[in-house]
Amino acid sequence: MRPTGRLHLGHYHGVLRNWVELQQSHECFFFIADWHALTTAYEEREVISDNVWDMAVDWMACGVNPNLATLFIQSRVMEHAELHLLLSMISPLGWLERVPTYKDQIEQLRERDLATYGFLGYPVLQSADILVYGAAGVPVGEDQVSHVELTRELARRFNHLFGREPGFEDKAEAAIGKMGKKQARLYRELRRRYQEEGDDEALSEARALLENQQNLTLADRARVAGYLEGGGRTVLTEPQALLTRAPRMPGLDGRKMSKSYGNTIALRESDDQVEKKIRTMPTDPARVRRTDPGDPDKCPVFDLHRVYSSDETRRWADQGCRSAGIGCLDCKGPLIDAVKAEVGPIRERAEALEEDPGHVRQVIGEGCERAREVARDTMRDVRSAIGLDYRQR
Ligand code: AMP
Repeated sequence: MRPTGRLHLGHYHGVLRNWVELQQSHECFFFIADWHALTTAYEEREVISDNVWDMAVDWMACGVNPNLATLFIQSRVMEHAELHLLLSMISPLGWLERVPTYKDQIEQLRERDLATYGFLGYPVLQSADILVYGAAGVPVGEDQVSHVELTRELARRFNHLFGREPGFEDKAEAAIGKMGKKQARLYRELRRRYQEEGDDEALSEARALLENQQNLTLADRARVAGYLEGGGRTVLTEPQALLTRAPRMPGLDGRKMSKSYGNTIALRESDDQVEKKIRTMPTDPARVRRTDPGDPDKCPVFDLHRVYSSDETRRWADQGCRSAGIGCLDCKGPLIDAVKAEVGPIRERAEALEEDPGHVRQVIGEGCERAREVARDTMRDVRSAIGLDYRQR
């Protein structure tokens, strides 16, 4: 997440809820993307530095737990920059110009200077962020899905170009030998089923089998994984995007909730502000008088009911609107209550965390160390694949 402003409900429903859940079952890395913030706002120095710590506080107030996940700052792990540079060498310009967010953002943020090398390379930097941790899944909002797709394409291109070391097949066969007789037999059978019959289930089963191979080094596991799919060594892992139920959380005006549209409710909003913002939300423009029936499908308030309300409340709002049985303020009532109930505890936890800034800094400091260790291992492998490991030879 870029530290460009206060976190809002779009961040919460679009991604943070997923983070809180995923940290229970997966090894997770969450970082403050300060370099990314510079790609769209290089002149906003203070904004970025203020928001770095606020963002860490907000995450923790929402339930992101530093005992379960690694929390860190992008610019403290130089490996992101190194991988970004190396990936940029093999990133076709056409791929970057075709990323949908590239043209969209230029259209929508006309007041900003986005005609930069850095902004075009935004998704390459994001690919580096993901690939340097060998991430299998990336919990993002809908707007970022195209970036995860580009990440997969860059990983595939990298593996294709640099995964073909001399004697690859012999090395892969030798690695299979280290898996033990029974497991090796199973692996070969699954590989045959995938390669000869296109059996995707066999592919997933074989991947799961490899996850549990304690006898293989990282490099050997990468070879056996690449061999499975008929390619070279898998140096970089292709990730999947992971979405929540609200991958495009609507804002107060019906467009995607976003700071640049000024349509947000912040996670630390006061109760009064929540109430005021929702009460003044626009509704179906055709419903001019209280007695006019409305159309919930044309109303930004109903979009919020889709996120917050039970089936029963949604039915009440839908029918009441269509029949003019309820007014727009009535319809907004349950939402005001639901949002207040959601942000109240987050605000209180954030206030408590702010009392102890040393703790937050320590959490992030430890996270940076831990992230660096993992990123360093990947880069050793990446340098060696490209042939840049002469210092290590
Ligand atoms: P950003 O603030 O653009 O750096 O976004 C941080 C993360 O929050 C990204 O994964 C976005 O996709 C996600 N996000 C931001 N706004 C929304 C929204 N309104 N709905 C869903 N996800 C969002």
